[in-house]
Amino acid sequence: MTQIRTADLTKTFADAGGGVTALDALTLTIEDGEFFALLGPSGCGKTTLLRTLAGLETPSSGAVYIGEADMTRTPAGKRGVAMVFQDYALFPHMTVTENIAYPLRVRGVPKAQQREAVLAAAADLGLTGTDTTVGLLDRRPEALSGGQQQRVALARATAAKPSVFLFDEPLSNLDARLRLEARTFLKRLQRELAVTTVFVTHDQAEALALADRIAVMQSGRIRQLGTPREVYRRPANTFVASFIGSTPMNLLEGVVRDGRVLVADSEIAPPDGTGERLAERAAVVLGARPEYFRVSPDPLDGAFRGTVEVAENLGSSLLLTLDVSGTAVQVVVAEEDEPEPRATVWALPRADRTLLYADGELVG
Ligand code: ATP
Repeated sequence: MTQIRTADLTKTFADAGGGVTALDALTLTIEDGEFFALLGPSGCGKTTLLRTLAGLETPSSGAVYIGEADMTRTPAGKRGVAMVFQDYALFPHMTVTENIAYPLRVRGVPKAQQREAVLAAAADLGLTGTDTTVGLLDRRPEALSGGQQQRVALARATAAKPSVFLFDEPLSNLDARLRLEARTFLKRLQRELAVTTVFVTHDQAEALALADRIAVMQSGRIRQLGTPREVYRRPANTFVASFIGSTPMNLLEGVVRDGRVLVADSEIAPPDGTGERLAERAAVVLGARPEYFRVSPDPLDGAFRGTVEVAENLGSSLLLTLDVSGTAVQVVVAEEDEPEPRATVWALPRADRTLLYADGELVG
């Protein structure tokens, strides 16, 4: 059982300005066998957290537990974790076999056992060759593609049979197509091995696709922790709402009036079940994803009335930017429902998918 726990984990770096708090009293539990993503913008502390779990960084205060043990002061090599870095960190002068065997050799594992573990890991990762591909075991990293290098790095991590995998943006050096392939592959591998995995990414789509749970971080703190569905459907605050989703959520400033929300001269029905709870004239932010609108050329009650400004092709659908009394509202429509440029349309947000924020926090 390898649960990971942090308690009040804080890391400050000294700098000219007096110090950066990269981790701010962070308390977190990652369950055994979980695929856990750390997501957030550049500089939010993701890598620092991962490096602290790995033992490559010493916390300023707080503790790290791996399994039952307090590992806060345990050196990296003795934590039973394997880390895969963004640039894979393969040794250029070693062959694939030697690279994969390296952690075992350092540990003094007998040669025959090393060989066995290398072959098993290489086979799992598709590096030994099949009828159609040539085996790669005797090559050096320079003679491998980015995707192959990534597999070698993963094979090196799995051969050591760690109880925890730590991945720092392991897909970011791959081109878009290979990245999708590698993503599916990584997910399958993690499922098969059932090893507790912490995965750093700044790509929200990647986190949504891969993770069992996601921690969305900002300025060294966790702003929301939940399943991909939870953080997508019900972002806990406007920061998470604006960060998650391939097309950003509409976050529209409004004011409560007679149980409705007045936004850009349109009266919108509040989210289900919030009507009675709203204080008259309260300033709120209405959150509505572009995907959750009904768009019509005819008037709809409780809808935004807007003019079509821009239509962007998303492949099977279109992203329309509407001008609603000077406020931009984005909605997704099916390709066949493309309105004329400058047409007037009514866009009705789905009440069961509309969110309301006050002071930046979700109220309904
Ligand atoms: P990115 O996605 O850009 O890698 P990140 O979320 O991983 O960002 P960190 O690398 O953890 O962020 O950095 C968190 C904060 O700590 C940043 O403000 C960064 O500048 C600072 N920081 C990180 N490492 C050091 C260091 N060795 N010395 C000083 N400051 C550091």
